[in-house]
Amino acid sequence: MWTIEEEQSFRDDLIDKVISHANSSDGMLSRYELGNFPYAGKDIRVIDVQGGIWNPGASWPFAEPLRATLSINTTLSGKYDDQEVQGGLWRYDYQSGSTEGKNSKLRKAMQLQLPLLWFRQQATGDYVPYRVFIINDFPSERYCLMAPDRALAVASQSESPIERKYAERLMQQRLHQPAFRAQVISAYETKCAICTLAHGRLLDAAHITPDRDADSSTSVTNGLSLCKIHHTAYDINIVGIDPDYKVHIREDILQEVDGPMLEHGIKEMDMRSLWIPPAKSKQPDRERLAERFRVFQNQ
Ligand SMILES: [Zn+2]
Repeated sequence: MWTIEEEQSFRDDLIDKVISHANSSDGMLSRYELGNFPYAGKDIRVIDVQGGIWNPGASWPFAEPLRATLSINTTLSGKYDDQEVQGGLWRYDYQSGSTEGKNSKLRKAMQLQLPLLWFRQQATGDYVPYRVFIINDFPSERYCLMAPDRALAVASQSESPIERKYAERLMQQRLHQPAFRAQVISAYETKCAICTLAHGRLLDAAHITPDRDADSSTSVTNGLSLCKIHHTAYDINIVGIDPDYKVHIREDILQEVDGPMLEHGIKEMDMRSLWIPPAKSKQPDRERLAERFRVFQNQ
């Protein structure tokens, strides 16, 4: 049998690969992909066939049984009440039936402090993967609490209000950012809105104006899919985008002469039309663009 350390490193490696695979496109994976995930020369199932809790059993392609739940998932149509709860921790409801059975291996993940995957279904039907730890368990209320990081979970329960607030904010970001990225990148069909570069791992979901709403899931119109270089250039106002979806490059940069990245990657983008999602409901908000463009013009 695997030692606990071996199981831990297997889980870490698998979780990294699942998240990295998702981020090579729009940050999401379909249920089919999660049922046939390529790992160590095999196609393995990393999500339960139908239910929420996946405890690999006899069909698991590795000889070693796992001590605890490998993954949990939340569907949009589900009857369960998974949500962010006070303190930044996230709630996951038990699967119906006995508090033992499938649910007992969730408890095992908590006792052994083993990381697991949490798949959150998005509006597209696909799932965003998260690495989580089970932090606390309430069998009589039939739910557990989870967090993206054990140290953050401890800090979120701290007696110091400053430490607590800081941990809560980080955990909220960790919860919302991957879902925001998935929505934006998928709306832009995994392309940079400025240069149309189509490599998911080189793309970010940028905010047009600072997101005051903690629930970024509603703010795809405040997002732009941008490659890393154009994201940073937009953030520092080398690039501006006007409310008519035209790209502008700062005047002094247009005068500069340098190698191919500046010439082709930046200067040639001047006056290009932004590539925007076909769906009107997902196109960037013109008022936010205008607000942001004034900052570019007045620098
Ligand atoms: Zn770009």
